[in-house]
Amino acid sequence: MGTSRSPLVGISTLVDYSQPLELLLRKMREAGFEAVGIGHKVSHFPYQDKRRVAEVADLTVKLDLFVDYIHTPIDIFLDLSSPNDYAREAAILVCKFAIDAIHELSGRAATAHLSNVQSMSLEEIESRLSFAHDSVRELTNYAGEKGILFCLENLPHPYSYHRMLERLLETAKEPISLCLDTCHANIHNPDPFTFIEKYASLIRTTHLSDNFGARDVHLTPFAGTFDFGRLARLLSLAGYDGNVMLENSLEAAMKRFARGQQVPKEPRPRGLDEYLRDSFEAARRIRDAMQSASSQDQATAAAS
Ligand SMILES: [Zn+2]
Repeated sequence: MGTSRSPLVGISTLVDYSQPLELLLRKMREAGFEAVGIGHKVSHFPYQDKRRVAEVADLTVKLDLFVDYIHTPIDIFLDLSSPNDYAREAAILVCKFAIDAIHELSGRAATAHLSNVQSMSLEEIESRLSFAHDSVRELTNYAGEKGILFCLENLPHPYSYHRMLERLLETAKEPISLCLDTCHANIHNPDPFTFIEKYASLIRTTHLSDNFGARDVHLTPFAGTFDFGRLARLLSLAGYDGNVMLENSLEAAMKRFARGQQVPKEPRPRGLDEYLRDSFEAARRIRDAMQSASSQDQATAAAS
């Protein structure tokens, strides 16, 4: 296997929502990034506003910056598995305007959380499954008609909402597209690769960031303990056709340091330009590892 297409390297606007979008996109491009993911914060980029979407589409074309995905908004009531019909319908409609926006931006994917409820009984998870399947099918079809991938994101490993995603995947009749969040997979998880290996073929985009296993801190890849080399080989073997999309956050790191709440061994962040340059190097390292795994794979196939 292995693809000849070179994946783009990109980063989410979540890196620093305190910067105006235009400035942030320019600085990403200056740092070398070829793609951007739009973070979940609709106040940063109100992508329900068609005029604003058209402006940003123009700018990304001018900057030659590909828009890989939009992350749908996050709120406790935006729940694709909710037994409340109105709440579930609201969540579906919100995902639809995100899908419309990424289509207008000529991008690839919308990424979404199935639910944002951390704690549910096993019975409650089971009782929500049929609602979840219906919502995901509807959105997969709606996105598919526009050539967009509707991707569910794995959630922080220890919690109920991730159990529900696993149950959804186990009981799905059609393939479900996934967005792999490495930080979430690595939280209190003795082997994050159990999930990743099992569903590698479903991964269509990524939220790549790092941590030390305890907290959802979204550090730059290689700053924590997640094994990005192993991930790169695995994705390459699985024929991954997406881009190398980071989801690390300078803004969150700055807040932790300002409050003295940084995690042990966390690097002290510098300014945005340096942070983006370091992030670009990390992303390029992952892309290089994917490409060398893919060429080794091809060489092995040719020799046998
Ligand atoms: Zn994520």
